[in-house]
Amino acid sequence: MSDPLADLYQQVILDHAKRRSGSGQLDAFDAEHYERNPTCGDEITVQLALSADRKSVDALAWHGDGCSISMASASVMSELVTGKPVTEVRRMIDAFRELMRSRGTIEPDEDLLGDAVAFQGVSRFVMRVKCAMLSWVAAEACLTQVG
Ligand code: ZN
Repeated sequence: MSDPLADLYQQVILDHAKRRSGSGQLDAFDAEHYERNPTCGDEITVQLALSADRKSVDALAWHGDGCSISMASASVMSELVTGKPVTEVRRMIDAFRELMRSRGTIEPDEDLLGDAVAFQGVSRFVMRVKCAMLSWVAAEACLTQVG
């Protein structure tokens, strides 16, 4: 028997791995960070531009290459954070990290995490957690740079 929710989540990840939302480079940005996952070979560079008042994420773009989980996660993250207040983005990153460390034991906050809840199943596979976290860690480093 297949689990319909697991199938749906699988589909979200596959769709985003193809769609690669946010893939590309920004003409101007406030922070840039490169992150690598040596266990899988995923590499990503995230660029982040703040709004004029520096209170929200105006644009986020990423480029790199890696497995479908890392690419899908970057795509989901990019869609989620664009246009959001920096404080909310920080909460999203914290919530996503908590979800990925949970090994499938916590119910994710779908209002906060949107499509990122699809990675809940990935949290049961310790080797893949780093793949899913990669772009989020890079985005967090960008936020630290802009302080
Ligand atoms: Zn990977």
